[in-house]
Amino acid sequence: MITVKNLHKKFGQLHILKGIDLEISQGEVVVVIGPSGSGKSTFLRCLNRLEEPTEGEITFEGKSITARGHNINQTREKMGMVFQQFNLFPHKSVIDNITLAPIRVKKMEKARAVSLAVELLRTVGLEDKLNAYPSQLSGGQKQRIAIARALAMEPHVMLFDEPTSALDPEMVGEVLDVMKKLADKGMTMVIVTHEMGFAREVGDRIIFMDQGQIVEQGTPQEVFGAPKHQRTQDFLSKVL
Ligand code: ADP
Ligand code: MG
Repeated sequence: MITVKNLHKKFGQLHILKGIDLEISQGEVVVVIGPSGSGKSTFLRCLNRLEEPTEGEITFEGKSITARGHNINQTREKMGMVFQQFNLFPHKSVIDNITLAPIRVKKMEKARAVSLAVELLRTVGLEDKLNAYPSQLSGGQKQRIAIARALAMEPHVMLFDEPTSALDPEMVGEVLDVMKKLADKGMTMVIVTHEMGFAREVGDRIIFMDQGQIVEQGTPQEVFGAPKHQRTQDFLSKVL
C-alpha cells in the first residue's frame, strides 16, 4: 500500500532522515519506536507530505505521491492522521467536529455524514457526547473524538503520532483500546508510540529508528525478544 524508497529529509544543514526504505502492506499495523529526536515524527509527516521529503520516493496505492504535479490533498483524504495534541475545533460540537471535513471536503451529504459520525462515536464509545464541546471532555475523550474525526473521512490508512503521550496515565488505556479495535478490523496503521506493551500486542511489525535511520525491524517477538543491534538493546533496556 505504501512504499518508501531512500527517503531523506533535511532541515537546512540538519540531516534528519538518512535514507529510509520501507514497504507497508494493506491491513498491516506498523509500530515505530525509537529515542526522542530520532526522526519518527518527521518520517510520519513525510508520508502525507506534511513535511516535504528532500530526496526519495513515496508511493501510495500504486501512485507516486512525491512526483511533480501529484495532487497531495486528494491523497491526504485517504490518510487519516492523529497527533499528540488533539486539535479539535474548540467552538464546534463533537458532531460538527466529525462531520465538517466529510461534508466540506468530500461533499458527503449531511445526513450520511451524521449517521457515519454516530456510528464512529459508537466505535470509540462516546455516542452520548454528540452535542458536547471539546472543553467538556477529558483528554482521553478528546483523543477518541479526534480518532473518530479522522475515520470520518474513510481513510485507507491511519497515521498516529504518539496519540497517548499527552494524556494522564489513567486515560491511556481507553485510547489504546480504540486503536486495538481498529487494528482488529483490519485498518492499515502506522503508529509512533512509547507504549511498548501495546506495540508488542498490536504491532505486526516493529520498526526501531535511531538517528534518522531504521536500525532494526521485525516481528514484536524478534525486536523485543531478541534485538540484534546494540542500539536497539540499549533503547529497550531503558524503556522496558
Ligand atoms: P522524534 O519524533 O523521533 O522525536 P522528530 O522527527 O520530531 O523526532 O525530530 C527529529 C529531529 O529533527 C530533531 O532533532 C528535531 O529538532 C528536528 N526537527 C524536526 N522538525 C524540525 C523543523 N521543522 N526544523 C528544524 N528541525 C526540525
Ligand atoms: Mg515525535
